[in-house]
Amino acid sequence: AYNVLVVGGGPAGASSAIYSARKGIRTGVIAERFGGQVADTVGIENFISVSYTEGPKLVAQLEEHVKEYDVDIMKAQQAVALREGADGLKEVELANGAVLKAKSVILATGARWREMNVPGEAEYKAKGVCFCPHCDGPLFKGKPVAVIGGGNSGIEAAIDLAGIVEQVTVLEFGDSLRADDVLVKKAESLPNVKIIKQAMTTEVLGDGKKVTGLTYKDRATDEVHTVNVDGIFVQIGLVPNSDFLKDTLELSSRGEIEVDPRGQTSMPGVFAAGDVTTAPYKQIIVSMGSGATAALGAFDYLIRS
Ligand code: FAD
Repeated sequence: AYNVLVVGGGPAGASSAIYSARKGIRTGVIAERFGGQVADTVGIENFISVSYTEGPKLVAQLEEHVKEYDVDIMKAQQAVALREGADGLKEVELANGAVLKAKSVILATGARWREMNVPGEAEYKAKGVCFCPHCDGPLFKGKPVAVIGGGNSGIEAAIDLAGIVEQVTVLEFGDSLRADDVLVKKAESLPNVKIIKQAMTTEVLGDGKKVTGLTYKDRATDEVHTVNVDGIFVQIGLVPNSDFLKDTLELSSRGEIEVDPRGQTSMPGVFAAGDVTTAPYKQIIVSMGSGATAALGAFDYLIRS
């Protein structure tokens, strides 16, 4: 059995694995796709001490760093269940039917951005269609952008972007904004933020290389309008990869794994880190930090049990 079995090979999982292996304990990592969301990222400018890197390069470096230690990396494996075994060990069941046993488990399965599923969105991903204002906002300095979604993340994004870009157009599907009042008031007070409600985004437009605009349908009149923008920030939710844990662990109403400050979940000996948890602010540097926390939390648990 493993001392620590990490489920997930993104920045949180890689960090957990390195911190665990450095304690000299038997460590394994299961990853459906090593690198996680970082593999889908083009430019990264906020990974502190590295002024610029790119997703695939950082993924290769993460893997290289993990491989400096004695860690079993099991790629292209999906965990489908977690349970307490009769022998006191945790059991992680894989999609291929295999069952791995461990004294402690760190869940770092990350999350995925909810997509609009409209024509052009996939084609122009990272060519104007973005999901992270903290990451990509500065790319649109002085240009017009749209934010899709009028919840807290959409309105926060609009306020954040308004200080950088020329004009922000917020498109909200419903007839009212779902963000907190204080955020809505702030956004409404900004001269370069325009909020359009009852707007259903229908298509991302581009010139073959990058985004040039979008179309939306006014749900009140059924009229279709075009907005010319260089960037589109999709802010309609982050979906945690926690479906397989629903019946096992305490999850928040959004499906995030509830953790304490040491990364401990509701099942003793099971820790979690990164975007799949309730910890706020989903960023590479934040998830790496929480991976370290969860690994040290797991080590503390192991030496006490
Ligand atoms: P993830 O990176 O999501 O990794 C999850 C891992 O778990 C993957 O290996 C996945 O295959 C695996 N997994 C999932 N389910 C299972 C399962 N059932 N069984 C086995 N394995 C499983 N952040 C920044 O700080 N700067 C940026 O510039 C930046 N740009 C971004 C751009 C894009 C397009 C996206 C999508 C995100 C960006 N982020 C950025 C956010 C950052 O990528 C995430 O916060 C970070 O990757 C979260 O790390 P994680 O390890 O928690 O999860």
